[in-house]
Amino acid sequence: MKDFFRVSHFSKKSKARIGEINTVHGKLKTPGFIAAATKGTIKTLTPKQVNEIGIEAACFNTYHLVTHPGADIIAKVGGIHKYSGLNIFAMSDSGGFQVFSLARNQRKADVRGEEQPLLVKISGDGVRFRSLHDGQLIEFTPEKSMEYQLKIGADINMAFDECTYYPATHEYAEDAMNRTHEWLKRCVQFRARQRNFLLSGNPPRLGGESQGVKNLLSSPSTNNGQLVTSDQFLYGIIQGATFEDLRKKSAEFVVAQNTPGIAIGGVSVGESKKEMRDQVKWMADYLPKDRPVHLLGVGQIDDIIDLVKYGVDTFDCVEPTRLARMGTLYKMSNNKLQMTNKSQILNDKDLKIDITRTEYKNNFEKLDVNCNCYVCTNFTKSYLHHLFKQREILGYTLATHHNLYFMEKLFDKIRELIIKDQI
Ligand SMILES: [Zn+2]
Repeated sequence: MKDFFRVSHFSKKSKARIGEINTVHGKLKTPGFIAAATKGTIKTLTPKQVNEIGIEAACFNTYHLVTHPGADIIAKVGGIHKYSGLNIFAMSDSGGFQVFSLARNQRKADVRGEEQPLLVKISGDGVRFRSLHDGQLIEFTPEKSMEYQLKIGADINMAFDECTYYPATHEYAEDAMNRTHEWLKRCVQFRARQRNFLLSGNPPRLGGESQGVKNLLSSPSTNNGQLVTSDQFLYGIIQGATFEDLRKKSAEFVVAQNTPGIAIGGVSVGESKKEMRDQVKWMADYLPKDRPVHLLGVGQIDDIIDLVKYGVDTFDCVEPTRLARMGTLYKMSNNKLQMTNKSQILNDKDLKIDITRTEYKNNFEKLDVNCNCYVCTNFTKSYLHHLFKQREILGYTLATHHNLYFMEKLFDKIRELIIKDQI
């Protein structure tokens, strides 16, 4: 696809830039937010509501979708856009984060007697486990992750990586980084074979693809006449934990593989905010100017502006939707978002209210006088409080609506400030 990423303005003040990522399913203005659609849904919202809020992008979780309903089921109907009805810019992760957490948590879960998928094997190649749902053996290797993501059909795919836990030793972090680099090369090769197969019709000479993928590629009819492969873009993932030398080395390696986009992984896994920001700062000079940069799993409001300055274009984070379901709502009133030129405009603590607190029972004000969303124009704090106290499902929907609307407005404001060279 031509013009996958276009930058229209570089800030004179920092490495922040204004751009647009284009896919066949829609575009995403950058810097931009990718809402969590972990199991194939932005929780509590219909796709129609998603469009009404103005959400441009969704992030699907490969591990969850592979364990249920299975990548083949999604491929049968032509990919996740059709399956979920979310016909917007979509990203899928590699599954690496979950399968390695699963491997690490297995022992703890066994001790606690929790029900966890049964881990079969971890090797230099990946992870194998048995699904909780049906006992099926599921394997995650670089090639399998690519195959699953191909079938899921999101526009942006992530290379298979090992997300290093925190705190990790330098030795472990280096090993994990090297594995991630080897796997990236295998993902790139897989993509090249796949593309060659797609264009020439010749079966790939090297191994890797399962019969399932060969069938998918050679029988377009299984996808309602639309191959899901031709417009999927691969991102390599930078790892290296909290070590400056490793982060720089990894950034250099990953950027040199020429994937259409670059992602930064392994951050926000338990380290302090300063450590998290430092990691991105170390890599800032190595990040490409002509390709989009995604930061995996980060999106707390107070982090976003600082990270945009280092050249991060997109963020995905469960926080706005997860907080919403807990009754924690973002608030534009009295926050410093109204200010025009301060980088410390957002102090996380000033920006949230807990609607479950008793004080709101008698509060008939709008949730947020500075917000024009459907929720703030139609409902009072008292009503939202009531819905949450009674665990009415509408409460979760309204809270999610407002928090995601808030994120969209936050990014509008960030882009406005970058255009004015104030960030
Ligand atoms: Zn609102």
